Amino acid sequence: MDLIPYGRQDICDDDIDAVVAILKSDFLTQGPTVPAFEDAVKAHTGAAHALAMNSATSALHVACLALGLSEGDWLWTSPISFVASANCGLYCGANVDFVDIDPVTSNISPDRLEEQLYKADRDRRLPKIVVAVHMGGHSCDMKRLSELSARYGFALIEDASHAIGATYDGGPVGNCRYSDVTVFSFHPVKIVTTGEGGMALTQNSNVAQRMNLLRSHGITRDPALFSNAPDGPWYYEQIDLGFNYRMTDLQAGLGISQMTRLRQFVDRRNKIADRYDELLAPLPLKRPHRSSRDVSAFHLYIVRIDSNRVHSTHRAIFELLRSNGILVNLHYIPIYRQPYYSAMGFDPTDYPESEAYYREAISLPMFAAMTDEQQDVVYGVLHEVLA
Ligand SMILES: *Cc1c(COP(=O)(O)O)cnc(C)c1O
Repeated sequence: MDLIPYGRQDICDDDIDAVVAILKSDFLTQGPTVPAFEDAVKAHTGAAHALAMNSATSALHVACLALGLSEGDWLWTSPISFVASANCGLYCGANVDFVDIDPVTSNISPDRLEEQLYKADRDRRLPKIVVAVHMGGHSCDMKRLSELSARYGFALIEDASHAIGATYDGGPVGNCRYSDVTVFSFHPVKIVTTGEGGMALTQNSNVAQRMNLLRSHGITRDPALFSNAPDGPWYYEQIDLGFNYRMTDLQAGLGISQMTRLRQFVDRRNKIADRYDELLAPLPLKRPHRSSRDVSAFHLYIVRIDSNRVHSTHRAIFELLRSNGILVNLHYIPIYRQPYYSAMGFDPTDYPESEAYYREAISLPMFAAMTDEQQDVVYGVLHEVLA
């Protein structure tokens, strides 16, 4: 039985040649290819600053630090995300809280956020940072989120791990028009890959400079930032406590090659989504929200089982798909349900839409290299169990 993964990379000969060229070059890391990859992503997004890192998780961490998050502060995000969207707050010693999702988009609900901000303002517990996750590749309502950020004085990070190649309000996701920092992931299941990797984009040069320092030990070679006069040409200073979160040139070489096909990847994913929409329309399930205005990058194609119209359980449907070699997944278990978080006292009944989502959601296979034949297999099993 051929297995159909829920997501996988698309590597072509040009990608392989690009990595081999770096292997034969002078620099495997800290060479010219990382800045060249950053330039490619800047050219795509229009952001003024781009900092490549070894993962989106690292990028989220240094973004939080650069935006001043520290002990006693609050970071809010959506519970329907990968744990990294929340963990970045804990890394900084801050507290984490969650805002329930919008049932239509599965993104953070601006209405719930507004209510929660109103109460937090009264209790003097306003968040310093809100992490807006573009679930599945579809942008959050950034205009409303940025209005709230102006009114309540919090910084906005877009966790666009799913959304490179998507558009919002006529511009590319990553232009930071409505946010302080946008983060991309280049993990192999995402839209473009560098093996492991991530990037933080911003229009703010101070935030960019802080993130640049923190990704490489807090060390600078810029005399303008030195505290002391240089002892000699070897001189550098550590002026902050940073990390080794650097991307290698090998990864950046792959990233540059992949970026040339970004448009192709997103177009193909949207075609697959259109075909799923058509095939699945007669079945008793909810298909993903489609916006007439904004283009989703379609990292994920998530359906929700309509329990009132189906005899099988969510779990039985999931297991049947898996036993037929269709490696469906569930993105995500609400973060507050993870033992590490539930020990902090979160109450699932505070998040009714996230709980409903968790009872119904299934991520169907979705990747640029997926064939129509593979999609027909997915449809066939779903039809058998649901029709
Ligand atoms: C994949 C992902 C991350 C983490 O990305 P890495 O590059 O693996 O660190 C963070 N947030 C979301 C929403 C993700 O999907």
